[in-house]
Amino acid sequence: MIFRSGRTLRSILSHVKPQPDLLNHPGVIYHIPCLDCDHSYIGETGRTLRVRLSEHQRCCKNFETQKSAVAQHCLEEHHRIDWQGSAVIEKESIWHRRRINEAIHIKSFPNFNQDQGLNISPIWMSNITQVHIFIIIIVYLFILLFYFTYIYNIYI
Ligand SMILES: [Zn+2]
Repeated sequence: MIFRSGRTLRSILSHVKPQPDLLNHPGVIYHIPCLDCDHSYIGETGRTLRVRLSEHQRCCKNFETQKSAVAQHCLEEHHRIDWQGSAVIEKESIWHRRRINEAIHIKSFPNFNQDQGLNISPIWMSNITQVHIFIIIIVYLFILLFYFTYIYNIYI
């Protein structure tokens, strides 16, 4: 799912009812919003959001800005973190899909991530769908078919 930029994750997710079970769901992409600006931290974890949140909170308490971009934002900008507003953006148990989707979310929304995630090709950011890819493959196969038919007619 790709959101249009210009809207913040908070505005999109604010109307979603809290789902406490998602806090304990392993394998998620999540965001941690800031109370004082419209930026969020966007992350992925194979563990649960509950565990990951407690790690970010511990880093804030212990001033460990190297370990957590959330701690860095809150300590360097003197902004307050909206821990209660933290939410799962999507569930994804497969690691490489999680990394790709995390990178798409990072590129789509204002964030204070230190690491911008996977360096994904702009093609993934466009609205290319599986249907488009299927059509491209079919067209390619037809071109190959015509090419080999042409070669066959010339030499045989
Ligand atoms: Zn902020």
